[in-house]
Amino acid sequence: MSELTELYKEIRVCEKCILSRGRTNAVPGEGPEHADILFIGEGPGFHEDRQGRPFVGAAGKYLEELLERIGLKREEVYIANVIKCRPPGNRDPLPEEIEACRPYLDKQIDLVRPRLIITLGRFSMQRYFPGASITRIHGQPKRVGNMIYYPMFHPAAALHQPKWRNVVDEDFLKIPGLLAKLEAIEEAAPESPQAQQLSLF
Ligand code: URA
Repeated sequence: MSELTELYKEIRVCEKCILSRGRTNAVPGEGPEHADILFIGEGPGFHEDRQGRPFVGAAGKYLEELLERIGLKREEVYIANVIKCRPPGNRDPLPEEIEACRPYLDKQIDLVRPRLIITLGRFSMQRYFPGASITRIHGQPKRVGNMIYYPMFHPAAALHQPKWRNVVDEDFLKIPGLLAKLEAIEEAAPESPQAQQLSLF
């Protein structure tokens, strides 16, 4: 069994916070064992809780459409969430719930070894851009060593508020360019520095 599959087993029986009591299924995440792109959403909603899979409701359908526009299939990217169990009534996750789940997401990222982490919404953005405002920093990549962090609005925000739709569409279209830039940087400096925090553009 792969380490990722073992991690999923652990998550499915996790009781580290009260969200475990209300869940139908935990939603560990899904995707290839190694993927260049890893998305981090917020947490499972109604449909995700029922099916035990991330982004299978309306926001997931939109995410799949967006992926298709840049020539990618859902199966080619890794999809995770900050929290793995659905909060009651889809309320925001509490700090202690995010903390309880943090080691799972950390381990997932270690195992999948993405090159581009795309945060969807405020809660995943906080991991890499603490204190930032999503309205100010969405669509602005941050490079740390050979990794790019790219903050985006949550697709559900665009579904609920049409004014965000173009913004999400435009930010998404920048993704292939980010990967191409990263490749160019790696080719030019294969031993590139790790700890520096650089702005890409
Ligand atoms: N929204 C999320 O943030 N994650 C899901 O898995 C589904 C909807």
